[in-house]
Parts: sequence; C-alpha cells; structure tokens
Amino acid sequence: MRTRGFRLGKIHGIEICLDISLAIIFFLVIYSLGAGLFPQWHPTWGPALAWGTATAAGVLFFASLLAHELAHSIMAQRHGIAVPRITLFVFGGVSELASEPQSPDTEFRVAIVGPLMSLALGAVFTLAGTSLAGGEFVDSLQADPEDAMASLGPGATLLLWLGPINVMLAVFNLIPGFPLDGGRVLRAALWWLSGDLRRATEWASRVGRGFAWGLMGLGVWEALAGALVQGLWLLLIGWFLNNAARSSYMQLLLTQAMESLTVKDLMRTRFESVQPDAPLQAFIDQKLLRSDQIAWPVLRDRVLVGLIGLESIRSALKAERPPETVGDAMVGIEDSIEANVRGGDALKLLVASKSDPIPVLEAGQLVGLLFHADLVRWLALHEIESRQNLRA
Ligand SMILES: [Zn+2]
Repeated sequence: MRTRGFRLGKIHGIEICLDISLAIIFFLVIYSLGAGLFPQWHPTWGPALAWGTATAAGVLFFASLLAHELAHSIMAQRHGIAVPRITLFVFGGVSELASEPQSPDTEFRVAIVGPLMSLALGAVFTLAGTSLAGGEFVDSLQADPEDAMASLGPGATLLLWLGPINVMLAVFNLIPGFPLDGGRVLRAALWWLSGDLRRATEWASRVGRGFAWGLMGLGVWEALAGALVQGLWLLLIGWFLNNAARSSYMQLLLTQAMESLTVKDLMRTRFESVQPDAPLQAFIDQKLLRSDQIAWPVLRDRVLVGLIGLESIRSALKAERPPETVGDAMVGIEDSIEANVRGGDALKLLVASKSDPIPVLEAGQLVGLLFHADLVRWLALHEIESRQNLRA
C-alpha cells in the first residue's frame, strides 16, 4: 500500500498519502453524484452546475475522511505515540501508529475521537445546509420532498449531502468489530475489565468477524433481491472487515509470542571460531571453504574481537597490501546483544543493525550468534501456528 500511494504533504509532522484505490472511489463518488443524485434532485440544473457541485462534494468528502484520521493521529501524538503516516484508501483511512496504545484508557481516547470528529462534521454540515436552505425548507421537506430538494442552491445541496454522509461514516466506524474504531472501543473496554490485552483482542476480533459475516450475508440477500450493486458493495466491505479482524489478531499473537522469547531461544549455539593470528590463506583453504558457516567469530583468549566471513575477506583482499592473518581481514564488532534480551527488542536491533549475525554475549563471553535469516524463519513458522490458533 505504501509504494502505490501519492504523497500529498505533511500536517502536524504526519505524512499524508493517497492510495491508488482512492482515485477510483473518488471518481465513482463524483460520477454517482454528477450523473445520478444531483440531476435527480435538480432536474433544472445544467451539466456544468451538476458536475461542478459533484466535484466540490467529492473533494470535501475526502477532506472529511482526512479530518477523521487526523483526529485519531493527533490524539495518539498527545499520548506520546508517534504517527509517521496517514494513508487514505478505498474504505477510508489508516493512521499508522508507531506503537500500540499502552493502556485501555489511551486506546479508548484514540479510537473514539475519529467517529466523534465525523459526527461533529455531520452536525455542522447539516446545520449549515439547513440554515442556507432557509427557514421554510424543513417544513416544505415534509409536505413535498422533491420540490423542497429542487429549491436548494448548490451550496445547500452539497452541505445536505455531506452532513448525513459524515454521520453514516461515524456510525459505520462505530460497528464494534475490531479493527474498526468501534471494535477498538470494545477492545479497550474488555481490556480494562479483564486486564488481558490478548483475550480482549481475541473477543473484539471475534465480534468483528461476526459482523463481517453478517454484512456479507446481507450483501448476498440484497443482491438476490435485485439490489446487485448495493449487495456487492456490502459483500466487499464484509470481506475486507473479516480479513482485517483476522490479521490484526494474528499480528498481536505474533508480537506477544516474540515478547515471551529471549535471544537465547533464537540464537545459534553450534559454530566454530578462529584465532586472530591464524594465517588467512590457511583459514580460507582449510576452514571457511570446507564449512557451511558463513560468519566466523574471531576470539583472542576466549574474548570476542571480530567477525570474519566471505564479505570481509573479499573487501580486505582489495587493499594494496593483502592481509596475512585473520586478524587483518576481520571486521570489528559494531553491535552485540545479551542472551537474556527479549525477542521484541532483538527484532528491533536486527532491523536497525548492519551486522548480520549479531554476536550474543553472556557475562562478556560469546555464547551464540543471532542471524537475521533465523529470525525470519522463526516468524514464518510462527505465523502458521497463529493461523491454527485462530481457527480453533
Ligand atoms: Zn477511525
């Protein structure tokens, strides 16, 4: 999603991106208003007026989505959570929080403020539209709706479409299915009651999947009853919600599983080492080329002084005076990690560090090597397990 987005600019230090899928929905909204709804409300309007109002309504609709996301993001920032990016896409927006909220209280505030923003916008637009339409509008809407709508100017038309749409946006987002805002509110409540984030997420995700299946069922029923487009639309939203609920629960399982591990569980303990004063050529011929091991710790009196592997030898051989010993060709230790560090922190270090493997120390002694590839393999293995957990 990140690579397909257009950058729009920065607000409050947050990068605003548009997903390519948004362009399609943007034109669909403008088309359905310009060719459908507005000419239906205003039989006397010419195409220029109908399309102009439709375009303005489309732009303001996406400004409303952005305001909803900005409300989440700014509340998160206030609670010390960094927000690098907001991406607007086909079903609304996603605020990318650098970390999950640390308490049910924060989760609740960050989640609820988006729908509140949409509700407030809905109220403001509706009130502004009604006052623009004049005092008689509400009365004449009951007597003769068609005539009342036709009497509206472009400004009032636009506002009276935008207001209810924002209210609908708030209501949709309040569906208590994780990861929708309402599901996050539900999770915050369950988390607060049970004190257990994993179980709260599991329940909120189950409710989310229940709603998703309900929407898909309703979609099929509507499609069979003749409202094909509306039915397909519900089916699509349901399918999207179901996937989102599943994957966000799996994400949490993974993070928690990583937290229950330490570096000791992930590191390699079977490896050979070499002395710094060993002749380089003999090391290459007799050890490096006769082993699967790609990185060799260099130990002087059992103390780790460097790492040597194909990469460091290749760059050392390019020098004017080719190295004679392993010590001349090795690279120094940039990063190391203690054996009792938690899996989550190890993952962060591996992502940030240039050294692969990272030597693992215990009381200053080398006890293992932590490879990037091993961690990736562990993650892949664990994802299979968490899928099975979810089905159970
Ligand atoms: Zn939201």
